Amino acid sequence: MNSRTEQRIALISVHGDPAVEIGKEEAGGQNVYVRQVGEALAKLGWQVEMFTRKVSAEQETIVQHSPNCRTIRLEAGAVEFVPRDNLFGYLPEFLDNFLKFQQENGFVYPLVHTNYWLSSWVGMQLKEIQASKQVHTYHSLGAVKYNTINTIPLIATTRLAVEKQVLETAQRIVATSPQEEEHMRSLVSTKGSIDIIPCGTDIGQFGCVDRQAARAELGIDPEAKLVLYVGRFDPRKGIETLVRAVAESKLRSGKLQLIIGGGSRPGHSDGIERDRIENIVAELGMSDFTTFPGRLSQEILPYYYAAADVCVVPSHYEPFGLVAIEAMASHTPVVASDVGGLQFTVVPEETGLLAPPQDVAAFSAAIDRILANPQWRNELGQAARKRVENKFSWEGVASELAQLYTQLLQEKAEEIPEETHKEPVLAS
Ligand code: UDP
Repeated sequence: MNSRTEQRIALISVHGDPAVEIGKEEAGGQNVYVRQVGEALAKLGWQVEMFTRKVSAEQETIVQHSPNCRTIRLEAGAVEFVPRDNLFGYLPEFLDNFLKFQQENGFVYPLVHTNYWLSSWVGMQLKEIQASKQVHTYHSLGAVKYNTINTIPLIATTRLAVEKQVLETAQRIVATSPQEEEHMRSLVSTKGSIDIIPCGTDIGQFGCVDRQAARAELGIDPEAKLVLYVGRFDPRKGIETLVRAVAESKLRSGKLQLIIGGGSRPGHSDGIERDRIENIVAELGMSDFTTFPGRLSQEILPYYYAAADVCVVPSHYEPFGLVAIEAMASHTPVVASDVGGLQFTVVPEETGLLAPPQDVAAFSAAIDRILANPQWRNELGQAARKRVENKFSWEGVASELAQLYTQLLQEKAEEIPEETHKEPVLAS
């Protein structure tokens, strides 16, 4: 990097606001990723602006996180929450407001890192208008997601077209696991340039407390066998599989405890899923040993992970799955679905166990194997911690991204189009 302009970078995350509370409907891994990558890049000396859509009048337009890192909320459509599947039509306005922001501040971003397909469309227009380079992280691939759900949304055709176009045209795609790269190649396109740079976690925060201290702090019986879920309430997260697996556990009559952590809003999709799960828990007679503590802040989460004997990630599909590495960083083994990024983070028999998604019997057996053998459980937990230290710290992730940005910025700039502002082209 040899000039100040080149040190400036825009992270675009239209629907995943990096400055909001995590753990509620639609606020999950992407929000954490953008915020943590942004803050870690700022520590490395980059000037980072993270652009997202404003969803309420009460929200501040600019949130300063650290001297070189801020979130900027742009208007696009009515200032209210809109589910991501309905956002595409608002993107031209988002793009216009992004261009206005640049103009008012007297600079152009030489490189934008876009997140999720919606933002990728914005990045592709910027590439045309001002020759910004584009790095893109998918977070979720339509081609994979639509194989795991029954009702395909109307936006599917557009999404698939945009996802193919960005893979073929971005300067670089960041896959967060070899499994994600493989899906891009087999399901989206063989063209385009992909690097694998994983997601990360805060290895100082997760892993800072030991099990007994964590249990004392949370008021959990030191002798309990504690099974933990952390995440959004979404049918694709497979919480039902976990609940039914625990119901079948051979250790059920002992001191078994199940904690299902994550926020929900009554009347919203996550509230509906939470009610459904609570009903299953009640039907299976598990209410006396199952708790729903609600949304867990990033400050309290290290205690929950450390207190648990095993953390379960039963998703039907997971492009990466931050929860798995947060638990592993906290010395806690993970039982996860044998899918996507979880096949990359969890090493079976070494840092936890994998089970086929939605396979209640397999999950139950895996959970029991770990709970029944405390010494092995501890060995798995130690190896899990080591794996995260070696591969998945945010600092490591940010420095890999920084190297990628620097390399792309040094490559000869492509011809800048004569006009400075073209009308955005809608994807067909
Ligand atoms: N999370 C949280 N509080 C909660 C539930 C979840 O802070 O109550 C965080 C969790 O720590 C993780 C993220 O939300 O960092 C979930 O990311 P993941 O990749 O596991 O799933 P996604 O939500 O992206 O599908």
